Amino acid sequence: MSGFEREPGLDMVPSYEAPIQYPTLDALQARLGEIFSERDRVYFDERYARIRLFENGVADLFDGLRRSQEAEDFEIPCARVVARIFCIANSFERLSVANGMMEKFPIKGCAYCGASPCVCAGNRGEVQLATQNEIQQNWSLRQWQRHLDNLYGEPNRARGIWFATTRLAVETNELVAAEDNIRLMTIEEAKRAYEHELADGLAWTVAIANILGVDLQKATEDRFGNGCNSCGSVPCQCLRHNMQQVKFG
Ligand SMILES: [Zn+2]
Ligand SMILES: [Zn+2]
Repeated sequence: MSGFEREPGLDMVPSYEAPIQYPTLDALQARLGEIFSERDRVYFDERYARIRLFENGVADLFDGLRRSQEAEDFEIPCARVVARIFCIANSFERLSVANGMMEKFPIKGCAYCGASPCVCAGNRGEVQLATQNEIQQNWSLRQWQRHLDNLYGEPNRARGIWFATTRLAVETNELVAAEDNIRLMTIEEAKRAYEHELADGLAWTVAIANILGVDLQKATEDRFGNGCNSCGSVPCQCLRHNMQQVKFG
């Protein structure tokens, strides 16, 4: 349904349908930083405002899903959510969403039940954080999308698009909770907490893309590969983001 081949394992080699500009998740995060960090520092100096922007993108997904569940209608809304996850990440210096992804979504299987594909969906115990590794460090967003489809595609498709989108909304609450408690954390602890929460947010965004059949790498590069989607500049020269919801249809 999603069009992604299932070939789990350490030697997972991507068969790209199209060449990609940003070959790792870190490179994509850096690219979004290059375009938007300056603007975000000026207009979104408080992290709550960035979380609010992310929340706004999630609300757009809910709104869009009432009208359509066609992949082509969700390329831009999904790309915006990815960009807003990186917008939060880039409020820290050197916070890598890929680090959180590696710890929560290891190659060998689900970080909760250990199985690949996961067999514990919806019935999770304690997470076993994995170690960061060179293989996943070099994965593109597209490889992460395929990996997560191998692990969780089937249970996620069974539970449906509304479940996945609701779980993404829950992640916005967890980010707010992390920010509420940030004064009780060291900078290192805060970065760790955010790496894990943002990885969860990205994973649910990927889950949504997998259910709808959106190629997230292509969608994100189509949107941001040539600079800001609005002004075309790097760095972006736009005014403050419009926080109104996008209109679908
Ligand atoms: Zn599992
Ligand atoms: Zn711009």
